[in-house]
Amino acid sequence: SGADVQETSAAPTDAAYRNARLPVEKRVRDLLGRMTLAEKIGQMTQAERIDVDADTSLITTNGLGSILSGGGSTPTPNTAEAWADMVDRYQQAALDSRLGIPLLYGVDSVHGHGNLVGATIFPHNIGLGATRDPGLVERAAEITAEETRASGPQWAFAPCLCVARDDRWGRTYESFGEDPDLVTRMTTAIRGLQGRPGQLDDPTHVLASAKHFAGDGLTSYDEEAVGTGAYPIDQGITEVDHATFDELALAPYWPAIRKYDVGSVMPSYSSVDWTEDGLGNPTKMHASEELLTGVLKGDMRFDGIVISDWRAIRQLPGDYRAQVKASVLAGVDMFMEPIQAPNNPSGWDEFIPTLTDLVDSGEVPVSRIDDAVTRILTKKFELGLFEHPFTDRTHLDEIGSAQHRKVAREAVAKSQVLLKNERKAVPLARRKPVYVAGAKADSIGDQAGGWTVTWQGGSTNQVPGNTILDGVRGEATRVTWSADGSAPVPKNASAVVVVGETPYAEGFGDVGGPQWAYDPADNGTPRPAQTMELSQSDQDLVRTVCTKVETCVVVLLSGRPLVIEPSLLSQVDALQAAWLPGSQGEGVTDVLFGRTPYTGKLPVSWPRSVAQEPINVGDADYDPLFRYGWGLRAKR
Ligand code: BGC
Repeated sequence: SGADVQETSAAPTDAAYRNARLPVEKRVRDLLGRMTLAEKIGQMTQAERIDVDADTSLITTNGLGSILSGGGSTPTPNTAEAWADMVDRYQQAALDSRLGIPLLYGVDSVHGHGNLVGATIFPHNIGLGATRDPGLVERAAEITAEETRASGPQWAFAPCLCVARDDRWGRTYESFGEDPDLVTRMTTAIRGLQGRPGQLDDPTHVLASAKHFAGDGLTSYDEEAVGTGAYPIDQGITEVDHATFDELALAPYWPAIRKYDVGSVMPSYSSVDWTEDGLGNPTKMHASEELLTGVLKGDMRFDGIVISDWRAIRQLPGDYRAQVKASVLAGVDMFMEPIQAPNNPSGWDEFIPTLTDLVDSGEVPVSRIDDAVTRILTKKFELGLFEHPFTDRTHLDEIGSAQHRKVAREAVAKSQVLLKNERKAVPLARRKPVYVAGAKADSIGDQAGGWTVTWQGGSTNQVPGNTILDGVRGEATRVTWSADGSAPVPKNASAVVVVGETPYAEGFGDVGGPQWAYDPADNGTPRPAQTMELSQSDQDLVRTVCTKVETCVVVLLSGRPLVIEPSLLSQVDALQAAWLPGSQGEGVTDVLFGRTPYTGKLPVSWPRSVAQEPINVGDADYDPLFRYGWGLRAKR
C-alpha cells in the first residue's frame, strides 16, 4: 500500500485545499476528493516516534497521519529545541508525500508538558480538583498548551475526564475527583488547551483530547484478578445501569463537546456491561457503536477525531481483522497502533493492509473512511498546519518561565488540603527550628508522580523546579534535614515529615503482587503493586520523628487517599494532603508557613480502610475518615 501513495501524480499548487481564504469545509472536500484509499488510510494511522525515527521516509511512503510520543517512548529529546527539531523532521517527511498533508503530533501533556525536561509541571488533576478553581485549571492548561506547542506537538492527550469512584484505581490521580459535577466544572481545561473557537491555529494552543470515553473511573474491582497478572480494576468493566452511566461517566462530556468543542476524544480501555438489560456481555468501549457513534457522535454531535488508545483495539475479541473492523465500524477514526519492536511485533504496518482489505472486500464502507478522514483533516486545517506546518519557535523561551512557574506554585498552594490540625500546629513558625524528615521531602520526581519524563515517572526523574525541602529552607532559618529521621532533633523543633507514594502510572489496583509486567523503559521488569496503606517504613518514620519533636506535621505526597491507622494519626499534630504537586514544591510550604491560606477541599472521600472502597459521597453507609469536601482552614 505504501507504493500506492506515490502513484497518483502530485496535486497542483493552486489546488483549492491549499487556499487559506476558502472555508475549511471546502478545503477538506477538495482534498478528500484527490486522495487515494491508501492516502486516506494513512491519515487514519498513528505511529510511535520510535517506529519512524531511524527512517522518516516511512512517514512519506505510508502517508502517516499522525505520530505520538507515548508513555513508553524513551529516550526522548531533553531540550525544547531538540523536540522542535524532531517534530519538524517528521513533519518534513509528511510534507514530502504527494499531497503534502501535514502531520499531527500527539503527547500526554496531562500535568504540563511532562515529557519535556524543563517544562512547568503542574499538580496532577487530583490536586487541581482540590483547588475547586476552574479558572486556575484553565490557566494551567493554557500554559501547558503554550509549552507543548512551542516545542512541536500540536495535540495533547488531555484532559482526563474520568470520575474516579474507587481509590484502588491506579489512575485516580488523573481524575479531578469523585464528583461528576466537579469534573464537569473542570472541563475549562479544554478551553485552556484549545483556546476559544478559532484560536487553534495560534502557536500557543493545542488540540485537546477528552479521555477516556467513558466510564474509565467507574469500573468494578475484580477480586478474582488479584495476583493473576490481570488488572483488578484498571481497564475493567463498568457495571452500572444507563442512568448511573449518564450521571457518572457521560456528564462531563456534554460541556466538553457542546461548550468547549473538544477536538478529539479517546475511548477507554474499559468495557460496559448494561446490567439493566440483563445481557451481562461486556462491550469494550473501542467496539461500542452505541456509545461512540450513537451517543458521542450522535446525541452529543461530536465532530472531532475519535483516537483509539494505545493498541487498545487489540483487546477486542477475534483476530486482528475482526478487531480493526469492529473498531472502525464502531466509530474510531484514528488508530494508535505503535510497533515499538521488539515489544510489539506489529502495529500500524499490520493495520494499514488490514483496513485496506476490509474496504476492498466491502466490509467497511468507503463512507466510513471518508467520515474519519474528514474529521482528521478538518482539525489539521483548524490547527493551521497547512499554512504553518513547522514549529513556531517564538514561544520557546516561555517554557518553564518564572511566570509559568508562579502559576504552578499558586495551583500547588491552592491544592493543599489540611486534613487535621491539633494545637494550632500549622501554620509553622519561621523562627523555630524545623526538622525535615523523609527522602520524599527532597525529590521532585516523587512530587511529580507518573507521566513525568517517563511514563511511570520515578523518584529519580528529576526535573527543574524546587522541592518541599527547598521551600522549608526558604521560610525558616534553622532547618535540619534527615532523610531517614536519624539525625538528632534540636530542642523545640517542629517537624515536617514527608511520606507517601512512589510514582506509577496505570495498571495498579492495590493488593496482590505485581500486576504490571510490561514497561519498555525497564525491559519488562514487573513492578511491585501499590497498596493504599502507608508503607511500613513511612509509618516507622512518622512514629520515630513524631515522638521526638514538639510539633509534628505530616505532608502526604500521593495520588489518592492513603490509609492511615488511628494509632498513627493520633501521633500526628497536623496532616496535609499535598497530592502530586509537580515541579513547584514551594507551593506546599506557602501554606505550611502561612504565606497563603489553606483553601483546598477534598476532591475524593478519604477512607478509614481499604475495605471501605469504593467509598463515595452519597453512599448509604458513608463513614469516611474525612468526608468529600473536607479541608480545614488554619488560623494564626
Ligand atoms: C493511556 C492513555 C495515553 C496513551 C498514550 C495509554 O496507555 O491509557 O491515557 O494517552 O497511552 O501514551
